[in-house]
Amino acid sequence: MKAIQAVRGMNDVLPDHAPLWEHFEQTVRDWLGRYGYRNIRMPVLEKTELFVRSIGEVTDIVEKEMYTFIDQLNGESLTLRPEGTASCVRAAIQHNLLYNGPCRVFYWGPMFRHERPQKGRFRQFHQVGVEALGFGGPEVDAEHMIMGARLWKDLGLDDIRLEINSLGSSDSRARYRSRLIAYLESRIDELDEDSRRRLHTNPLRVLDSKNPAMQSIVEQAPRLEDDLDEASLASFDRLQSLLRAAGVGFTINPRLVRGLDYYNDAVYEWTTTRLGAQGTVCAGGRYDGLFAQIGGKPSAACGFAMGIERLLALIEESGGTPRAQAPDVYVVHAGEAGSRYAWKVAEALRDHRLAVVLHCGGGSFKSQMKRADGSGARYAAIIGDDEAHGEVVSVKPLRETGEQQKLAVDEVAELVRAPGQ
Ligand code: ATP
Ligand code: MG
Repeated sequence: MKAIQAVRGMNDVLPDHAPLWEHFEQTVRDWLGRYGYRNIRMPVLEKTELFVRSIGEVTDIVEKEMYTFIDQLNGESLTLRPEGTASCVRAAIQHNLLYNGPCRVFYWGPMFRHERPQKGRFRQFHQVGVEALGFGGPEVDAEHMIMGARLWKDLGLDDIRLEINSLGSSDSRARYRSRLIAYLESRIDELDEDSRRRLHTNPLRVLDSKNPAMQSIVEQAPRLEDDLDEASLASFDRLQSLLRAAGVGFTINPRLVRGLDYYNDAVYEWTTTRLGAQGTVCAGGRYDGLFAQIGGKPSAACGFAMGIERLLALIEESGGTPRAQAPDVYVVHAGEAGSRYAWKVAEALRDHRLAVVLHCGGGSFKSQMKRADGSGARYAAIIGDDEAHGEVVSVKPLRETGEQQKLAVDEVAELVRAPGQ
């Protein structure tokens, strides 16, 4: 019978690779704690309407990337979340999280998008999302970018560059939109199919086109900057001066528009040239309209999300792969009394907070010792009937030279725990 494979674009993280994820998660948890962000956990399944209303109907995500299905029991349309911000804002509204003032939250977990799988692009991928709910700009926007810069440092990554832009208010976007449509219409013969379709529904998205043939059209497009109103300009200036004061380098990219509809004012992306075409590792911006858009009380907010797989690929590429932690002790055993005693010894050593692997599955001492060696453990505890009767353990160092010696359990723990070990 043919073996069943995982769904295309959805990956297993195998034990050899898991330490890298754990190292990343630990670093991220510590980093978020230092900025006062608290964890929030949302379901992976939401009503489809949530994403249609928040992300926008004419976006790549909603048009073609969502895993949507009908709940057979009640006919409701449900979607596996393609991103976290909409769910997070939904939860904040539903539970009145802003009742006592603004709040800083984060989440992480799997997101689902039906994209063509390739390097750095999967159908189940993972994000860390960070949101500042109820905060107007631009201080907290600057905080988010400063946080990003620190995280790359904590992870030992250089080579990640910040690009920022301002999308302005919805009024200035509307003004820009009509100018952009006029420009794109004047070059309609040169537009690709996607761009033509978007021309009247979501013209800003044309600027986000990944098609190389569209690049010169995009480059010559009118600039949003010229339509920004006073308040947005002032806010964008202040953001830049906060970043400068913090020593965070950035470039302004006037064509940065982001693929989701809910953004206004500051938007940004962190990119690297070291991952090929999928070089955006983190992206975010302000979304002051989103609360009202999905039925909440209007509240300013902003946030960002990073692609964990892309960051891990970058860590690996920089040679920073942590190794799996090996056990402290591997217990091999034989004989009726010996085996019974071995279980007791293993538990006693674990009482001492040691990582202990107890051999399971029998075999000769010789074959068990091979397993012990292969486990990477620093010591083997060898237990036969003699040891059981004498209530001692024979201990043998596996990673360095040294004599095998017979010790009581507490002495074994002391030896393994000894300084320099
Ligand atoms: P892209 O332009 O690469 O498709 P996006 O604008 O669709 O990215 P966002 O919705 O902003 O991405 O998501 C934030 C981050 O999540 C991205 O910068 C990226 O690092 C990661 N990401 C998005 N889609 C995927 C995917 N399909 N596979 C892996 N990572 C992804
Ligand atoms: Mg995308």
